[in-house]
Amino acid sequence: MTEPYVFSTSKYTVALYGPQPSIIKARELAVVHGANPDRICAIKAASNATCRGFKEIQAPNFGSMAKNDFDNYADGVTLTKPGDSAILWTAGCPSDAMLEHSTNTLLFTHSGRPALTPKNDLGEPINNIITLAYQQLVFGVKNPQVEAFIAGCVCPEHFRHDKLEAQPLITPFDQIGEVAFTNRIKGTLDLKRIIIWQLLEAGVLPQNIHHDGLCTAETPWLTDYRTSKNKEARNVVIAVLH
Ligand SMILES: [Zn+2]
Repeated sequence: MTEPYVFSTSKYTVALYGPQPSIIKARELAVVHGANPDRICAIKAASNATCRGFKEIQAPNFGSMAKNDFDNYADGVTLTKPGDSAILWTAGCPSDAMLEHSTNTLLFTHSGRPALTPKNDLGEPINNIITLAYQQLVFGVKNPQVEAFIAGCVCPEHFRHDKLEAQPLITPFDQIGEVAFTNRIKGTLDLKRIIIWQLLEAGVLPQNIHHDGLCTAETPWLTDYRTSKNKEARNVVIAVLH
């Protein structure tokens, strides 16, 4: 057993686990990483635009330790008190924890392809879940100091869009430039690199952007929607604000 992958600083922790038997079990794991048992938010993330809470970053609701159900239907929540924690379930989409130092606020998002798809007009600044999250995190903050951790997601090679019908899904990313794909013909969309590029564009320093380097399709203890037989399985990503 090699899981979980844990990234931890004095300010926050992100822990990536493979599939867990229940939401209650995930809440217990959050406590192991420093979560206040009374302030854990289980998030049902939106896998696409038809799902409830798509691209919404909400204030967290906190369920009891015995609640085997979700507390928010959203693509992100904002954590503001030490001990606050949020849990996301993903099967290959990146999740990102962004900490703003002066406010000690942690914004935790699920950032799959639909939410990362730019919705701005061509030539306008990129507008997607990362733009929304960053703007919300630094709103009203003078000289924001942001650091970020991106948890394991599907790598470009395992995220090909080389079929004709997949083209509409990826053409909006062309405006980001060659950063978006490792190979445009294969349509190997690089979700992690897109997020990093956006954070750098927003002014986050390169040394303050971290990731685990894990591909959900290549890491045996993680599940990946495209390659796994069990389409219901989800990895568990826990963020805790210290
Ligand atoms: Zn891979």
